[in-house]
Amino acid sequence: MKKISILIPAYNEQEVLEQLYHRLGKLANDNKAYEFEFLFVNDGSRDQTMSIIKDYAEADDRIAYVDLSRNFGKEIAMIAGLDHVTGNATVIIDADLQDPPELIPQMIKFWEEGYDDVYARRNSREGETWLKKFTSKTYYQLLQKATSIEIQKDTGDFRLLDRRCVEALKQIRESQRYTKGMFSWIGYKKKEITYDRDPRAAGQTKWNYPKLINFAIDGLTSFTTAPLRISSVLGFIVSLIAFVFIVVIVVKTAMFGDQVGGYPSTMAVILFLGGIQLLSLGIIGEYIGRIFNETKQRPLYFVEEYHAKSVKKSR
Ligand code: UDP
Ligand code: MG
Repeated sequence: MKKISILIPAYNEQEVLEQLYHRLGKLANDNKAYEFEFLFVNDGSRDQTMSIIKDYAEADDRIAYVDLSRNFGKEIAMIAGLDHVTGNATVIIDADLQDPPELIPQMIKFWEEGYDDVYARRNSREGETWLKKFTSKTYYQLLQKATSIEIQKDTGDFRLLDRRCVEALKQIRESQRYTKGMFSWIGYKKKEITYDRDPRAAGQTKWNYPKLINFAIDGLTSFTTAPLRISSVLGFIVSLIAFVFIVVIVVKTAMFGDQVGGYPSTMAVILFLGGIQLLSLGIIGEYIGRIFNETKQRPLYFVEEYHAKSVKKSR
């Protein structure tokens, strides 16, 4: 019997777990042809999430969990989960039921047809603000322009991955992860299905604008060096203009003599060049920061406890 692992990163999700467990249980009952594993990754939750999962695991052999030593963020929680899944295929799903588990049978169907990565693209984004929709749309357009690999639009992490995709992702050990880009980067046969994204079933979103901005910068800097290129080109253009300007000044001085004055133009040039230089330095700094973090070669996460049916409890 083929085994499907459902990978659920969970951070402070006590309100939704019961509903989630219920819907997942129903999924397993309706699809008896497959064995299911529900792997929860507890990402350092500060509420009852872990103890609820443990209670479920006591009674239900299908439940496995990885308890991380602290909150590492969803990207790291996902790789921690991928490191521990045992299924022939893995479905990554949010704990908050924004991704309907009812879509999973359809994903499995395409997987059986030979697709390695069946991802769900959302038609609508209910329960999200106008501003969030707008910013995310422009951001993805920008990112797509800047990089050669295809970034899937309106697609989250909700997808089914064949074992070989999981093995591929496990080999990517970057610490500042942008998993969304990695799915494209690894390649393999992809299939898109569409769905309507529901609002969160209960609890609070863990995203806020500072987090999203960081995530956006990570996305850009981990998948393209285009910003460096842009700053070089900009530097070149500005130098060219400066050179022309110098020639004009020299010729003017030779013909009409030296006139003191021109304070406004001098200031304008100084401020403009200063701004460009700081911007370029900042861009270079972003990449150096990434190099710094990656060269430390730290482990991505630490596990407090791993539990699965066949695995003995570590404490
Ligand atoms: N999550 C996580 N660690 C974090 C933040 C979020 O594992 O530090 C999980 C969270 O429990 C949920 C998923 O990532 O299962 C998506 O989070 P959320 O619903 O808050 O994000 P949104 O859907 O608003 O983008
Ligand atoms: Mg959500």
